Parts: sequence; structure tokens; C-alpha cells
Amino acid sequence: MLKKVTVSTLAIGLAAGAFMLSANDADAQSKRKFIAIGTGGPTGVYFATGNAICRLVHKEAAEGRKSGRKHGIRCSAPSTGGSNYNIGQIRDGELDFGVAQSDWQYHAYNGSGGPWKDKAFKKVRAVFSVHPEPLQIIVRGDSGIKGWDDLKGKRVNIGNPGSGQRGTMELLMQQAGWTKKDFKLATELTSTEQSKALCDGKIDAYVYTVGVPNAGVAIATDGCGAMIANFNNALAKSNVTSAKPYYAWATIPKGTYKTTASDVTTWGVKATFVTSADVPADVVYEVTRAVFENIGDFRKLHPAFRNLDPKVMVKDGLSAPLHPGAAKYYKEKGLM
Ligand code: GLU
Repeated sequence: MLKKVTVSTLAIGLAAGAFMLSANDADAQSKRKFIAIGTGGPTGVYFATGNAICRLVHKEAAEGRKSGRKHGIRCSAPSTGGSNYNIGQIRDGELDFGVAQSDWQYHAYNGSGGPWKDKAFKKVRAVFSVHPEPLQIIVRGDSGIKGWDDLKGKRVNIGNPGSGQRGTMELLMQQAGWTKKDFKLATELTSTEQSKALCDGKIDAYVYTVGVPNAGVAIATDGCGAMIANFNNALAKSNVTSAKPYYAWATIPKGTYKTTASDVTTWGVKATFVTSADVPADVVYEVTRAVFENIGDFRKLHPAFRNLDPKVMVKDGLSAPLHPGAAKYYKEKGLM
């Protein structure tokens, strides 16, 4: 956080220097707001999402300096542990925004699962949804694993604590009646470490909720012949057909990666952008506005954003109440 400095302190501090800040500069500095967006591992799509949002916020800031429509927001989007880490940090006031899976937005608001069970975070607020995140069972080409049921007895990465990947995997393991002991080995590697471990033969598979395509999965598929297995067994069907608004069927089209010889049938969640009711409406309004006014640029910033549709983004995957700052922009634009 920038310390507030008065013009007179600056004048004294800089009197011996070659220049002095004008009253206008000092005023602009004191109005500057710093926001931080929680993302995920550096090879995932959340990291690209947070940084795309910051880029558009800064683009609007630069244009505003010319047109006089200033918002004063400076944005950073560091790499983090993923969905549940981000929501927890937003609750604790350490982050202002975060990217999080739609299932974890739901569970955090409703206190209904994983780390949020009976510990609802009632102030979590939806801003918009982003790309779909199919559940992907990534397997070594020589592992013989054809789907979820074959994971039993194998060496499987279940994801780092705090990731949405890990949270969702734990819920699925509970549903299947499995514990970590049902695997030969259950590793807790981060999204960035898991593809290398797979290629090095240290694990047989990992289960990952992530946008398509992405660099992390490509390391395994294109780099060492890993495949994505279908995930359409009884467990998948019972989840998608139940009244869980955050799950939907998904297809990974053939040709997505070098080893995707035919369409992969699976299911999954959506990436969503969340904040807290405590974040001021004007800040949420400006961030939302920067994204939607520049949606064409946003779509170009990662291949997983190619099909983003504003009408879908303001609706799908949002189960916490919409933040009033976002709602104001959507109403102005007739999006809701
Ligand atoms: N869905 C993943 C998680 O919450 C992150 C995926 C990504 O980094 O793109 O852990």
C-alpha cells in the first residue's frame, strides 16, 4: 500500500532534489488504489486470467489519462495455490479478487463442502464467469488407465492443498468411497509440477480441473505422449444429473493436443471471478467495466478465452450474490 504523503512533506523531502511533485501529481498518488487478484500456478489458465484482467484495467487507466475518465486502480495478479486459497485470502482481506471454480464459489457461500463445510463465507460475491474447466484425467500412455475407476491402486497426483483441483478431487474420492490409501501413491504436487512428474514416470495419472487448452497439460500430452481419459462413468452421471448447478458435461475436441485423437467426453465446472462484499462498488464496477469494454482483447489473451460470451459470463456458474458494482455495470449495458 502506498503511504499517504502530503504535498508539504514531499516538498521538504524533495527540496534538495532536481524536481518537485506538483500538487496534481500528489493528488493522483493519494487517489491510487492497489488491488490484488489471486490466480493459480504459472502454467495454468487462472494465472493468464488474472493477468489479462490487470492488463485491461491498466489499459483503461492509460486511456482515462487521455480522456480524463480516471479510475486510479493499479492491479497485480500473483501466482497462488488456486481456488480455495484465493477465496480464503479474500475472506481474510489479503486479496481483493480471485479466480475460483464454480463449485468452490457455491460451497464457500453455502458452507456446504470441503474447507467451507459449516464455515460459510457469506460475504463472497460473484463478479462474472470465465472459461469452462473440464475435469481431466491425464494418464501416461503406458499406464493402461482408461477412466476414473482404473485410478484405484495407481500413483495419482491429487493436487496441492488450497487448489480447486484438490478440493474437487477430495469430494469425488469421498463419493467413490476412496481414501488416499486406495491409491498406490497419492502425491500433492502443484499444477506446475505434475506434468513433469508424469513424464518422469513418478506418477501414473493426475486429475485436473483446468481451461482448455493450456501449457501445463501440453507438457504431458505433447511432451511425453500422455492422454486424456474419458470421464463418463456412473460417478460422473450422478453428479451432472443431480441438482448441482455448478457441474455440466464437457467435451475436449479431438486435435486439442497431439494425443487427442478423438473427442474426450468429460464434465466439469467453470472458472469464475469472485470478490468480497467489503470491496467497494466503484472498484468492482471499474474492473468489470475494463473487462467487458475490452472483451475482444480479452478473448485474444489466451486460447481458453476464445469463445467468451458476455451474456453467458454474467449468468453461468454464479451462485453467490452478484457484487453491486458488477450488477450496476451489467444493468447499464442491458446485460441483465
Ligand atoms: N481450477 C484450478 C484450481 O482451482 C486452477 C486451474 C488454473 O490454474 O487454471 O486449482
